[in-house]
Amino acid sequence: MKKEVIKKLREILGSPAVIEDETELLVYECDALTLFKSKPDAVVFPWTTEQVAQIVRLANEHRIPFLPRGAGTGLSGGALAVEGGIIIELQRMNRVLSIDADNRFAIVQPGVVNLHISQAVAPYGLYYAPDPSSQMACSIGGNVAENSGGPHCLKYGMTTNHILAIEAVTPKGEIIRLGNAAGETVGMDLLGAIVGSEGTFVIVTEITIRLLQKPQWVKTLLAAFHSVEDCSQTVSDIIAAGIVPAALEFVDAKTIEAVEASVYKAGYPQDAAAALLIEVDGFREGLEETSNAIVEICRRNRSYDVRVAKDDEERARLWLGRKGAFGAMGRISPDMITMDAVIPRTRLPEVLAEIARMSDRYGLAVANVFHAGDGNLHPLILFDGRRQDQVEKIHRMGEEIVKLCVDVGGALSGEHGIGYEKKEFMNLVFTEPDLEMMMRVKRVFNPDGLLNPSKIFPTRRACTEIGKHTTTSTAEIGKRVDEVLRGSAR
Ligand SMILES: Cc1cc2nc3c(=O)[nH]c(=O)nc-3n(C[C@H](O)[C@H](O)[C@H](O)COP(=O)(O)OP(=O)(O)OC[C@H]3O[C@@H](n4cnc5c(N)ncnc54)[C@H](O)[C@@H]3O)c2cc1C
Repeated sequence: MKKEVIKKLREILGSPAVIEDETELLVYECDALTLFKSKPDAVVFPWTTEQVAQIVRLANEHRIPFLPRGAGTGLSGGALAVEGGIIIELQRMNRVLSIDADNRFAIVQPGVVNLHISQAVAPYGLYYAPDPSSQMACSIGGNVAENSGGPHCLKYGMTTNHILAIEAVTPKGEIIRLGNAAGETVGMDLLGAIVGSEGTFVIVTEITIRLLQKPQWVKTLLAAFHSVEDCSQTVSDIIAAGIVPAALEFVDAKTIEAVEASVYKAGYPQDAAAALLIEVDGFREGLEETSNAIVEICRRNRSYDVRVAKDDEERARLWLGRKGAFGAMGRISPDMITMDAVIPRTRLPEVLAEIARMSDRYGLAVANVFHAGDGNLHPLILFDGRRQDQVEKIHRMGEEIVKLCVDVGGALSGEHGIGYEKKEFMNLVFTEPDLEMMMRVKRVFNPDGLLNPSKIFPTRRACTEIGKHTTTSTAEIGKRVDEVLRGSAR
């Protein structure tokens, strides 16, 4: 990057808030999907919205790509600087600006860690509902970009249901405000379009979030099964019975092995083939009946042990195991890749059985831990990144899993986004006009494509490669992608 640009960035932010040293930049060469790496030319750490806008305007002047980054816990390569350029790291914008307990909302900066919001509003008996398993680290800005989910999103909805308003910097450097604290959409729902746009529409610099009152009563259960099929059938049966638990999480034997070997030891049954972590919450009245109905469904599906957490400490331990499960994999494998898809719940048993067969065929272990209630699936493929043969297999096996989920009527992603990882799969589910319409919307926000380029949409090369798997003319789609993104198509 030109020295002149670095000098101007330092004028805007001060010297220590601009990184260009090759070694320091290594930290920012990937997010939590470590399979793909690309180093930025510089990383900057703004404190204010105005600074973000100035950086963006400078990048525009020099036609340099730029992208926002929160905590870098993303699992689809969304914060990967594919074309180099400037990473705008928002972790220093990490203040809870105000809390309105009476009207149940808070205004926060994008770098605030998800869990810190609930901690800040706890004295008012309130909390912020969407709780990704990464909530101890991920930022609310990243959550907005990815429309993140979490165990409790089954009952309470994803991030998009909890965002009332935002302030953002457009890719041209203007500052805009959308939505309002009252939560009423006036005019077009552009806020709805931005949540989940994976950092490709705007850079969010302030967020007004909805707060909820803590439930009066909570019951947490752990049900163990000797068979994966029985465990996944239970998920379907609970939902089919009209029960909406606050959370319904699936952990399999491999996950239990990792969790129990790690610091997140939760007391999960080590002889189980799979277990469900189930939570119900609400008014105390009626909760016992709901919990009893769930126990009954578990037993009908041959659960050999259904345990109800006896106090807050046991409940916290059960959740620690679930939320620490990804990290715990480090105890049993040097590397892993977290797949993310959604399938119809009733197809869970057959899809898990097929993934188990793939695991045998490829000789790569798979652990399954996921938000089962909403059909979200997270096969964690375990491998050794030092072995090229295993890395190659990962790509092939990952592709097979994605295709399997699509074939049973599923979606490409439940919560981690498309990012860089899954862009090549977009034309497995979308037609040329579908993709073109999405790209046109992107161009309205990000006309020059300088903000977070090479994400979400398949490239021409990838389209040609993926053409092996599709019936549509994928090379043609790729050509249109290039044309539309470059602005030569109307
Ligand atoms: C152990 C583990 C468990 C996880 N569990 C879950 C889970 O249960 N549910 C779930 O949904 N996800 C989960 N994730 C994925 C990840 O934590 C989420 O996607 C999270 O929202 C990313 O936040 P971040 O701050 O780390 O964002 P980053 O990784 O830094 O960025 C993610 C994307 O957001 C964009 N972005 C970041 N900040 C902004 C901003 N201010 N304005 C505009 N765009 C921005 C980036 O450009 C990038 O495209 C998990 C990840 C890990 C490692």
